[in-house]
Amino acid sequence: MDLKLLEKILNSEPRYRLKQARKAVFSDLIDSWQDATNLPLALREKLDGKVPLFIDGEIYASKDGKTVKAVIKLKDGLKIEAVLMRHARGRNSVCLSSQVGCPLGCGFCATGAAGFKRNLTVDEITGQYLFLARYLKNSIKEENKITNVVYMGMGEPFLNYENVMSSVRILNDKGLIGLGARHISISTAGIVDGIKKLANENLQINLAVSLHAPDDKLRSSLMPINKKYSIKRVLSAVDRYIEKTGRRVMFEYLMIKGINDSPALAKKLASLMKRPLYLINLIPYNPTDKFKPSTPEAIKIFKSILEKEGAAVTQRHSFGQDINAACGQLAGK
Ligand code: SAH
Ligand code: SF4
Repeated sequence: MDLKLLEKILNSEPRYRLKQARKAVFSDLIDSWQDATNLPLALREKLDGKVPLFIDGEIYASKDGKTVKAVIKLKDGLKIEAVLMRHARGRNSVCLSSQVGCPLGCGFCATGAAGFKRNLTVDEITGQYLFLARYLKNSIKEENKITNVVYMGMGEPFLNYENVMSSVRILNDKGLIGLGARHISISTAGIVDGIKKLANENLQINLAVSLHAPDDKLRSSLMPINKKYSIKRVLSAVDRYIEKTGRRVMFEYLMIKGINDSPALAKKLASLMKRPLYLINLIPYNPTDKFKPSTPEAIKIFKSILEKEGAAVTQRHSFGQDINAACGQLAGK
């Protein structure tokens, strides 16, 4: 739905109409204006014609029901994916895409392998949220709130900076979705300009940086963007971000068998990461035809070295592999 157009149309109506309409869309999660029964019929019809709420998507749920993937068809026929993960204790997180495909072409990532088509609009980004929030509300009644949003789907958020930030503001706005900034996270492959800009936004959202290797040679071979933004440049932008915001930064580190999981690399990583407010997140690699995941044993050793060296580290669990909904598996196919 085009939020700007909605505001324009309702400009000629009494002011409370906009508030009612926003509540209907973002809290009541209606998918047709006909359901906004507090609006006059003529207005509902007008809105259905001009700012339709229908989102063309399909749902795929994993066998255990904990992961739900939405494949959404955009107006130009391109497809994107978003994922809902139902954790314990009523925590529901949603993973949003920021682009159709990704131009950065990391060798280990299905999105990167699929190439790049275009940036998503603000409405296409918030539309993913709405689609999954509606699903959650209508299908899983007992726990119907999305509690966290991560920008870790298809694409590089900082290459679509303005639209991503506008969507963050819609998520965060109390009159719209009203999700706390601390419950929103953006992951970047290390776009230094984006990290610098985010530091000046005065927003308490979380920043994650995909590191995956502690030296430039290895990192460049996995992530071509490292040739432009070296580890040193990325970390110095992170340091300025921390100085400015006082916020913790998470470094994502995929565990890929025989590539970046040796004890020597763990030591190297620890020496880079042993800093206040740096947190390493070890992520099990979801297999592709090129790479395999590290063994649980290798991950255990890697983690224990980091801990022994004094770096802060956590481990992530994987969701939704059986429906190709896990990180790095979203290809919009
Ligand atoms: N472009 C941004 C955000 C989207 S990618 C970024 O790269 O940070 C989201 C996360 O999925 C990244 O940390 C990425 O490295 C990870 N990822 C990519 N391929 C993966 C795979 N096969 N298994 C597990 N995680 C993967
Ligand atoms: Fe793009 Fe992130 Fe995938 Fe790299 S890992 S290709 S930056 S989506």
